[in-house]
Amino acid sequence: MVKYVVDLVRSLLSPPHCAYCYISIDERQPLCTACLQCIQPIVTYNLALTRKDTLMVEAVSAYQEPLRSLILAKNYGNKVASRQLAHVMWYQTSLSYRACDIFVPIPLHWRRYAWRGFNQAEVIASDLAHAAGAQCLSLLQRQRATMFQAHLNIEERATNVKEVFMFKGDAKSITGKHLVLVDDLMTTGATLREAAKILLPLQPASLRAVVACRVI
Ligand SMILES: [Zn+2]
Repeated sequence: MVKYVVDLVRSLLSPPHCAYCYISIDERQPLCTACLQCIQPIVTYNLALTRKDTLMVEAVSAYQEPLRSLILAKNYGNKVASRQLAHVMWYQTSLSYRACDIFVPIPLHWRRYAWRGFNQAEVIASDLAHAAGAQCLSLLQRQRATMFQAHLNIEERATNVKEVFMFKGDAKSITGKHLVLVDDLMTTGATLREAAKILLPLQPASLRAVVACRVI
């Protein structure tokens, strides 16, 4: 009864609408059917780490609408958009039928975190972990602030994030676990590569990555 009243009040205060085109929808889901159908799936990408190791990176779509707007919403402090991305990522990737023990968000430097108030990757990872019945652990820490990758070319991006992460947590708890790195956007893959280089030596059972969009 209480839940019914809460849902009723919530729907009166904020009727469900599509996060991209804003039309009213019946269900509390992120996007309307038309916008969902606009999402063009892309293939899983094998990001080279070393000569023999690769990281499988799964994305819902290329960096285009309607998901692009949900990613950019972080710049306006819109945390709800991050949760909407998580919803789409859960239903539009293979995550729901893969073994996942720990979701690991790509961290923000504390200064950027303080400015934005939240880390979009962390919000997404937390919701994905909840959906999977898994853990969300912030196992990586930025050792230094980096420049915005968007302003740099491919070589500069790789240098900008080189050895930027350090591991924090109990290394033994990673061994034998299925790990999923989480970020909102993959551009060149330089950031995910640096993160994977930290986690792979800890011998997880598997390591993969999931992002909402991948620049192609
Ligand atoms: Zn829509």
